[in-house]
This record gives sequence, structure tokens and C-alpha cells, in this order.
Amino acid sequence: MEYVTVCGLEVHTELATKTKIFCNCTTEFGGEPNTHVCEICSGMPGTLPVLNKRVVEFAVRTGLALNCEITQYNKFDRKNYFYPDLPKAYQISQLYLPICRNGWVEINDSINGGKKKVRIHEIHMEEDAGKLVHDDWTESTLVNYNRCGVPLLEIVSEPDIASADEAVEYVEKLRAILQFCGVSDCKMQEGSLRADVNVSVMPKGSTEFGTRTEMKNINSFRAIKNAVEAEAQRQIELIEDGDKVVQETRRWDDSKGTSYSMRSKEDAQDYKYFPEPDLPPIQLDDEYIESIKATLPELPEAKKQRYITDYSLTEYDANILCSDKNYAILFDKTVEITNNPKDSAHWIMGDLMKLLNDSQTLPENMSFRQESLGEIINLVNGNKISRESAKKVLKAVFEDNVIPEAYVKEHNMEMVSDTGAIKSVIEEIVANNEKAVQEYKDGKDKSFNFLVGQSMRALKGKAPSTEVTRILKELLG
Ligand code: ADP
Ligand code: MG
Ligand code: ZN
Repeated sequence: MEYVTVCGLEVHTELATKTKIFCNCTTEFGGEPNTHVCEICSGMPGTLPVLNKRVVEFAVRTGLALNCEITQYNKFDRKNYFYPDLPKAYQISQLYLPICRNGWVEINDSINGGKKKVRIHEIHMEEDAGKLVHDDWTESTLVNYNRCGVPLLEIVSEPDIASADEAVEYVEKLRAILQFCGVSDCKMQEGSLRADVNVSVMPKGSTEFGTRTEMKNINSFRAIKNAVEAEAQRQIELIEDGDKVVQETRRWDDSKGTSYSMRSKEDAQDYKYFPEPDLPPIQLDDEYIESIKATLPELPEAKKQRYITDYSLTEYDANILCSDKNYAILFDKTVEITNNPKDSAHWIMGDLMKLLNDSQTLPENMSFRQESLGEIINLVNGNKISRESAKKVLKAVFEDNVIPEAYVKEHNMEMVSDTGAIKSVIEEIVANNEKAVQEYKDGKDKSFNFLVGQSMRALKGKAPSTEVTRILKELLG
């Protein structure tokens, strides 16, 4: 029998606020264990939470960017569960009136071709939990509360995703939008963007969803792809063997490429949700929402279209440049400096991507001055340095953040622009290569290329080859 995959994602993103959601502790990643904590976020009895305004602002901004309706009257609820990384034994979250609802993200339809919308059921605000550190040596578990109370948005999709590729593209699109909006740094390797992946399968043509399983906290694109594929396959095999899929939470082990059962899936009622009594409801007026709408930046999709129409970039290039905010910012800056979108895209897509790839650097970790790339392109296009030199300068910029002009001077890379100087070098080549000169005059084109090569070498590649060719032709008559 043929089966189809049904997948819905719950994506958690840590917000880039300076302080936590209900106290003034820093949200900074890392730090000595249990140093970013206070009475409130470590759950001391008798303390009261105070809502960070920025969290509401970021939630509304995200909702608007994801085409959601904003719930003007929304409130917090208590989700009760005991777990050592959550010292209060409840999480402040939103169940009944989440701040955003009914949005969508557009992706490519991997089954039918064309585009499709993945609907967003809701976005709610909540607090993150701490981290448990299992220590095999002492066979004990330590707990670090630094992450407790870091603000999260949970973005819940409808089960509209039909393949592993669609799941990946959905998260890629979401990540770019969140990043462009400035609400999260979306560093997946630091856990600031992670996905709970729900998967079920059903016979092709069926309208009734199968039983789903959930794999929690997956934090790389590769792992999302592998997890959806492997879980769908596991379920198909179960059904084919006459067994049933059990609704449960499973842990995906990407290094082993398998998932294993963690616990049976809780339902909302297991958490005994009730309205959070320590926080007043939030009332957002039209004016407030409009004021946030006015701060929305150009979003990835619009930017991509603009690159294609205004700059004649290919869809492929535009897609990659808009896949990460850091590429787009660098590209915009480079175009501003060079006034040459084609070359700017070319250098980023080619030489820079290669440097990133070879050094396994993520785009968010590029640390050079943004103007440098445009300056290098201007130096090449103005015939001040050769392309070969430009590659070397870019490498130095990428690795050591050098200033292109100074580096070029210091390393004596400037092109010889003095025609007289170029000419005298070429004259010497002509004088010393009588044989090649004669061969050229007898009609052998190869010998001309040889002479160009010799001249370029003598000039250490620092003269424009068009100029060398011109002078050589002139000298040989
Ligand atoms: P819960 O309240 O138990 O977490 P939800 O209805 O909120 O369940 O759904 C959680 C996630 O699971 C959503 O992203 C949703 O799209 C997805 N989901 C629901 N049913 C299915 C299904 N049959 N197959 C795959 N994903 C599903
Ligand atoms: Mg849920
Ligand atoms: Zn605190």
C-alpha cells in the first residue's frame, strides 16, 4: 500500500530580549551555571512575576510577520508538571487565549508542485526551563537554572506538512523571518530555535489522520529531515506488520538515526492548566498593534522578489541571499558600495561561500567589517588589483578583518597603472623571446599567448591583461 506522511511542528524560539520574561536576569547564553538567576526565575515561594514588555512586542511583531491575527485580549495560564529543570513545578504559558492565531508560511509543495501554505494554528508566549546535565562519571544529574525564564515563543503549525523536505523548508522560512524581524538570533546549535516534530502516516487517498508520535527538541535541519523520514518509515512498517502506532513522545537520536520511546504522550488535561493568577490579562489596542506593524522590516520573501526584479538576480541566488539575515545585510551593504548587484552576488555566492564552507563558519559568525567586500570589488573592477590578489585580500578580510586598501598597499598588490612602466617590461620580454616572436609573426597564435603569459609573470600579475595584450599587439605590429 502507498502511504502519505502528515507532519505538524511546534517550533520554540528564544527571544532576543536583554532580560528574562518575568525578572531582570540576563538572557545571555552560557555563563557559569546558576549565575543568571534570582528569586523569581529560580521559583522561590512568595515571589511574583512581572511581564517584560519587550516580549509582548516581539510576539506581536512575529505574529504580524507570519500573517496572524493578534488576540487583543490575551492572558497567561499555568501548565503544571513536575520536572527538576522547572523549579516552580509549573510553567507560565498560554493555552486558552494565545497572543497570535491563524497565520501561515508559504513553502514549495513537494507533492503537487507549485506553492502551498502551511497554516499556523497559534503562537504563544512562555518561559523556558533550565537544563539538566547528566554526569556519567559521578552518576549524578546537575541542574543549571540559567535558562529558566528565558522568553520563548511557541509557534504551532497545523498538520499541513507532507514530507521531510517540506518540514525543513518550513523551518528554514520561519527561521529567516524570525531573524529578519530581529526577534531571535535563531542559533540552532545553541538551542534558540528548536522543533518538536509530530509525525503520522495514512494510506494514500485517506482523509482520516493516523495516530501521531512526537519527537521533542530537534535542533538542526538535517536532524529534522532524518527524523521525519525515519519515523514515517517506522510507522509504515508497524502498520504493514499489523501492529498499531502508539501515541507517544519519542527521543530522536540523530547520531544513531533512530528514535526511541520516552513516555506516553500527555494530553492537555494531564497538565491541569488553569489561568495564571499572578499576572493580569494583556489588553492590546489597535494603535499599539499599528505602531508595531510600522516597525516591521522588509521580510525575506519581499526582499527576494526585489532582488529578482530590481537586480535581475536568479531565483536561486536571491533565495540563498535571503535565507539568512547576515547574507542579506552583507549583500545590501556591498551593493550600496559597488552599485553592482551582479558582482556583489557573485562574490558572496562564490568566494565568500567557499571561505565559510571551508572553515565551517556559520553566517552569523562572520566577523569582518561589512564594507570590506564592496571595497574589494571596487578595487578589482577599477583595475587597482587583479582578481587573484582580490581573492587573497578577501581571505585576509575573512580571517583577520584587515582593511582592504591598507592590506593591498602593505603587500604591494597594486596594479601597475603606469603604461610606460608596463611597456618597458613587455619590451624586454619581446627582446628576450625572439623565437616566440618569430613564430607569432609566422601565424602561430599559441606563441602570442606565451608572450602574454611571460609578460604577466614579469609584471607579477599586477597589470590588467587587456592592457598587456594591447601593448604586445602594438609592439609586434
Ligand atoms: P497537543 O495539544 O497534544 O500538543 P495539538 O493538537 O496542539 O496537540 O497538536 C500539536 C502538533 O501536532 C501540531 O503542530 C499539529 O499540527 C500536530 N498534529 C496534530 N495531529 C497530527 C497528526 N495526526 N499527524 C501529525 N501531526 C499532527
Ligand atoms: Mg502542544
Ligand atoms: Zn531571574
